[in-house]
Amino acid sequence: MTVALLSDVHGNLVALEAVLAALPPVEQLWVTGDTVGYGPDPSDVLALLRERGALLVAGNHDRAVATGAGLELFNHHAADAARLHTSWLSAEERDLLAALPETAERAAFTLCHGSLRDPLWEYVFTPGAAAACLERAATAHGCCGHTHVPAFFGGDGTPLGHVQPGDGASFDLPKRALVNPGSVGQPRDGDPRAAYALVELDASRVTFRRVRYDVAETQRRIHARGLPGILADRLAYGL
Ligand code: ZN
Repeated sequence: MTVALLSDVHGNLVALEAVLAALPPVEQLWVTGDTVGYGPDPSDVLALLRERGALLVAGNHDRAVATGAGLELFNHHAADAARLHTSWLSAEERDLLAALPETAERAAFTLCHGSLRDPLWEYVFTPGAAAACLERAATAHGCCGHTHVPAFFGGDGTPLGHVQPGDGASFDLPKRALVNPGSVGQPRDGDPRAAYALVELDASRVTFRRVRYDVAETQRRIHARGLPGILADRLAYGL
């Protein structure tokens, strides 16, 4: 069985559609949080992922848009976007976001947005943080997002090694691994292409992928909807 692992779509429908169009046949979609926030099309992104039967866990932006919780921790551009999203979404959509679980287990993986140590807010950038996350998992492996930077932490012993994978990088799963697919809707590793990963459960293999999308169209929508202009500008640079 092959799973598409997505994260941090952030209301970027154009990028999400490009990723879905590029996918090989997959049995499941797993999304490690921040489906909304920042981008121009939060409602359409949510609808498309629900239509595809995606498994969603909660991100800090999902929670802030749904309930206002944590808004005070955002920079003002992120907070402005979150407040706009709150006003655009229906009560039913906000309830759905508010009810998302902070963690979920599928096969040999535990999913969360940040870290199992702090599911909504911790950024896992180091092998030590990755190990602390996996220590809290009942499964062999974990999937996270939040940093918007693809990462593979793995190793048969300790400590875990860290690789920042580019397009096409592929790894056999070691005994324990933590996989961050990067961000579909707002990459921050200097590559503006949408990021995602494919997890082949039977072959125990993870492959990182990038796909071009129409950045200019997402930028146009961001301006048209009155979101902060910096949220459009940064997409061109993947930062
Ligand atoms: Zn995010």
